[in-house]
Amino acid sequence: MRKSFLFFSFLILCFSAKAQVELDEIVGAEKKHFLRVHKSKQGGAADNSNVIYQRLELKADPQINYIAGKVTTYFIPASVISTVEFDLKDSLRVDSVVYHNSVLSFFHTSDILRCNLSVAIPSLQTDSIAVYYQGVPDASGFGSFKQTVHDSNKPNVAPFNTPVIWTLSEPYGAKDWWPCKQNLSDKIDSMDILVTTPDSFTVASNGLLVEEIHNGNQKTFHWKHRYPIATYLICFAVTNYSVYNHYIPFNGDTLTMTNYVYPEHLAEAQSQNVAYTAFMQLFDTLFGNYGFSREKYGIAEFGWGGGMEHQTMTFQTGFGFELTAHELAHQWFGDKITCSSWSDIWLNEGFATYLAGLCYEHVAPQYWEVYKWQKRNAALAEPHGSVWCDDTTTVGRIFNSRLSYAKGAMVLHSLRYILGDDVFYRSLKNYQTDVNLAYSFASTSDLQHHFEAESRKDLSQFFQDWVYGKGFPSYQITWSQNFDNIITATVNQTQSDPSVSFFEMPLPLHLKNGTHDTTVIVPHHFSGESISFPISFLADSLIFDPQQFIIWDTTTTVVRQPAYDFSFFLYPNPVKDVLQMRLEATQGGKAEVKIYNTLGQLVLNNTQEFTAGRNIVALDVKNLLAGAYRITMNGAGKKVTSSFIKTN
Ligand SMILES: [Zn+2]
Repeated sequence: MRKSFLFFSFLILCFSAKAQVELDEIVGAEKKHFLRVHKSKQGGAADNSNVIYQRLELKADPQINYIAGKVTTYFIPASVISTVEFDLKDSLRVDSVVYHNSVLSFFHTSDILRCNLSVAIPSLQTDSIAVYYQGVPDASGFGSFKQTVHDSNKPNVAPFNTPVIWTLSEPYGAKDWWPCKQNLSDKIDSMDILVTTPDSFTVASNGLLVEEIHNGNQKTFHWKHRYPIATYLICFAVTNYSVYNHYIPFNGDTLTMTNYVYPEHLAEAQSQNVAYTAFMQLFDTLFGNYGFSREKYGIAEFGWGGGMEHQTMTFQTGFGFELTAHELAHQWFGDKITCSSWSDIWLNEGFATYLAGLCYEHVAPQYWEVYKWQKRNAALAEPHGSVWCDDTTTVGRIFNSRLSYAKGAMVLHSLRYILGDDVFYRSLKNYQTDVNLAYSFASTSDLQHHFEAESRKDLSQFFQDWVYGKGFPSYQITWSQNFDNIITATVNQTQSDPSVSFFEMPLPLHLKNGTHDTTVIVPHHFSGESISFPISFLADSLIFDPQQFIIWDTTTTVVRQPAYDFSFFLYPNPVKDVLQMRLEATQGGKAEVKIYNTLGQLVLNNTQEFTAGRNIVALDVKNLLAGAYRITMNGAGKKVTSSFIKTN
């Protein structure tokens, strides 16, 4: 795994410049589509049966904005049913509905196709129904079914203005182009997708391409997918793709990555092969096997800014570091396990954002601190709001880049910090392999359960504060170090939102001087708590959370205070030549220093200036005779006494 990371220096340079803006592009793309389709989500087809298989047989010519097809659905009714419903836009025309070789009557209105069965079907009896339809898919806005051209902005690269069609259905756009069931409760257990197109074009889709069937000047691409899939993750795209395979060493075997790229971008896509390998191997190591390894992974280029994590076939515009990492991460978090409601969208987006950061941490570590800093700053942009989405009627709230993406990612980083890497990654591997969640849906409480089971910790307070609670803390830290090198830190906390009265979180305190440093993690139970611990050296400074484990406001302050009103400490003792005096005072001033021998005779008398805080004063004592001495210091209205031994 690690070995392959050695090849990355050139790649890092290519990607660094774009890293700053990529998350906004990703979020923008995901949200824009949602904005268009969410308005039409009213009601939806009755969910009275379990869809076990669908076969899409479609005709799509990228030169024409049109679709025609037959969709056969196999299902198991949950109860006795006499109708079967599908989500399908009214703008598409249903030609016929066929059931057991008979044509059924149907109603198609309000974007729902209701098929009236000739006889009721008993519960748990597998049955099937076929819908023949055609039309111009809804073309408003950005489009879940988009017919356009590519390479139009590269006039020197032929061919010009090549037609292309792509689909992008998240979350409610599938019904724009095929009769389906749009929900977050029932994955389709397996699919076949057959798309017929003029033979100068190539079709990309989910799963494995098992057959290309020539028929005159037409060609049918038969894609087979044998993993459960959420409706919004089904896709196809068709244009004059250049197709190439890239082979990724994988668990002693090889995973085939099949990419469909515009011919004018083939070299650019291939130049990133080393990144695809590194990201895939990293996620596979950290989170368990790539969930669709019996088939493939692939990227199909499309023309819309950002990307879409279609299962086994991500659609991307470009091949940037963060975009590629983010969309690949969704294969684990979003595709293999899909959020069970839009309130839990952070289980998709917070994870994908965090995993893109992990690619920096492992592959381009010089950008890891910057990435965390960016995400934390994004989370701090406004004082309110929770990671868990508390308003799914508001589109902008669901795909809120600050909360669902950036804050979600940094909360995961905090969890990793308090649990440790081993427990954190083991919990997520367990989550990924949970038979109730894998290839199905998960909620935030499912995730919490896995972290708690592995860590044997009650994380309800953590989730309440950081996932469901709103806002973030600001810390006010004062600290001092006494002459025994014991650090005492008093930590106050305020909160940006009243929904959380106190953010409980262990605090990483980094202490250092010119030659030594250490990080001590201390518990913090209440605002105003005073915490003491020893270190082995005299610290110059305390830095709070330098590795950015915690989301804390930039109003946070760290102030060193003197450990004493007016006191000093001598070293070395015994001393031969120069006696060092560490003097601490709350206010600056002058002090009279006197040294007496055992006979009470004054042998040294001088005046020292000192400042508020810590002072180091050197006294030349090499001319004193060997023996015991008493030293007094008179300043700041106080007189302090100590003693030392002079040696030869
Ligand atoms: Zn995403």
